[in-house]
Amino acid sequence: MRHPITRLVVASHNEGKVREIRDLLKPFGVETFSARELNLPEPEETGTNFIQNAELKARAAADVSNMVALADDSGLAVDALDGAPGIYSARWAELPDGSGRDFKYAMAKVHEEIQKKHGVDTARFICALSLAFPNADVHSYEGKVEGRIIWPPRGDKGFGYDPFFQAIGDTQTFAEMEPADKHAKSHRADAFAKFIKAWFPHGPKSAEMK
Ligand code: IMP
Repeated sequence: MRHPITRLVVASHNEGKVREIRDLLKPFGVETFSARELNLPEPEETGTNFIQNAELKARAAADVSNMVALADDSGLAVDALDGAPGIYSARWAELPDGSGRDFKYAMAKVHEEIQKKHGVDTARFICALSLAFPNADVHSYEGKVEGRIIWPPRGDKGFGYDPFFQAIGDTQTFAEMEPADKHAKSHRADAFAKFIKAWFPHGPKSAEMK
């Protein structure tokens, strides 16, 4: 039988992701720590796909912290760009002068590249979640949400590429909707549902146990 998970480190330095994963974990009564809180180093993402990168982040955090670690590697895959920016989604936001990341800049670059490819705007967000045990096994789950690129970007909630992504059937971008509505359908929620099914088969804790 699998041991219940009562505490874990969210192996990410991205505050947007940490916030969303903490929100998603809340109903399961898990005590969470972030990589920043535990001062964990950020490993180099040398994988060639989302799962490889999520696994190397989870593995590194679990071994250093000696705690169960959950890592997320995610990004935006645009059909017209053959899946780019993909695993390089964060890197596309790096400003040419080296002064940091700016997602307005990244979105403009993606939009410009799409225009060069006759404006085909279909895209998906992809998320790999990996759960690693200290010096032991790792388990990975992948999720996605299909949508299209909206120009100009709209909304100020969420993070990263949310302002210019609209899921199929929606009229709001991910940055216009309430976090709970994004959590109900996002790539992260899809991967998370698979993770929950495997590790919390009895569902959320009842109200009196929270
Ligand atoms: P990484 O997984 O740390 O390599 O970074 C993935 C990048 O993809 C993030 O910095 C975001 O820009 C983008 N990304 C991943 N998930 C989301 C999301 O839910 N909304 C918007 N952007 C996202």
